[in-house]
Amino acid sequence: MATALSRLALLQPRTLAEALRMLRDEGPLVPLAGCTDLYVGFHFGSVPQDRFLDLQGIQGLRGIRLRGDTLEIGACTTYTELARSPLVRRRLPILAESARWVGSPQIQNRGTLGGNIANASPAGDTLPVLAVAETTVVLRSAAGERRVPFGAFYTGYRQTVMRPDELIVSVEVPRVEGHQWFRKVGTRAAQAISKVVMAAVRAPRPRVALGSVAPTVVRVPGTEAVLASGGSIAEAQAVLMDEIRPIDDLRSTATYRRRVSANLLAQFWSETAPAQPRRRRSNSVRNG
Ligand SMILES: Cc1cc2nc3c(=O)[nH]c(=O)nc-3n(C[C@H](O)[C@H](O)[C@H](O)COP(=O)(O)OP(=O)(O)OC[C@H]3O[C@@H](n4cnc5c(N)ncnc54)[C@H](O)[C@@H]3O)c2cc1C
Repeated sequence: MATALSRLALLQPRTLAEALRMLRDEGPLVPLAGCTDLYVGFHFGSVPQDRFLDLQGIQGLRGIRLRGDTLEIGACTTYTELARSPLVRRRLPILAESARWVGSPQIQNRGTLGGNIANASPAGDTLPVLAVAETTVVLRSAAGERRVPFGAFYTGYRQTVMRPDELIVSVEVPRVEGHQWFRKVGTRAAQAISKVVMAAVRAPRPRVALGSVAPTVVRVPGTEAVLASGGSIAEAQAVLMDEIRPIDDLRSTATYRRRVSANLLAQFWSETAPAQPRRRRSNSVRNG
């Protein structure tokens, strides 16, 4: 049954310090950013909590900036802001690309990067991008701040290392060298949760991450190692299909997800292949 919104309490801090104090002293509170995921929960009556902390008015959680050579993105940055940001498009174009594939313009205007991370869905479209970019998630509580490498943030299906008194305040993205690649496969172009989503970087040390093929978004180190060592794409595909753990669910089947993942890997590798120098034709061919 849908949740009666009138029985819910919403605390509206103006600053990050006030929000963290409320989390510590007036909890338990559920952070609420764009509310695109939470609202679905209210609709289906699957959110048991009734006290929420509104993050939308907190300027300290917004903004995209360069600090030294690190790209910093505030947790409450929306998909629309990511897709339009010249900084993101220059430094991490696959993040802007993934933002354009989320839901619809309405969802992109409200939904936030921090919400995508905290919601911890294995199908979150920005998550493979954050994984291959070797992002750091910055968490803060009234007691202090800690930085968690993205690869250590998820501990299981919809489980994270985040404590109830912590907020995601931002992510830090180092410079990513090499050709970046992103592809989402869903039922249609808009309003479709991914059947498979892949982000990859072609560099001396190739990096590949996938969503919707395991309980969490995953990097595939075995596959990356085959690519790095110059193995064939067929070999890498075989390792990949063994490395991922897709399931049958209402959106797709494990068999389809394995096959599509392998196809995406081949597509990534061929589309990012360095251009071959053009071979000079021999005289005999030219004159022949
Ligand atoms: C119609 C529809 C289509 C969608 N399509 C897609 C899609 O294509 N791809 C995709 O990846 N997602 C999709 N989503 C899911 C959703 O839009 C994203 O996960 C979004 O990024 C969630 O962000 P939000 O700000 O709305 O989060 P909210 O709904 O406000 O919160 C989600 C969760 O994150 C927590 N949270 C939020 N911000 C923080 C923070 N800063 N610190 C700690 N915890 C926090 C909340 O407590 C809650 O548990 C869709 C949702 C809908 C309703």
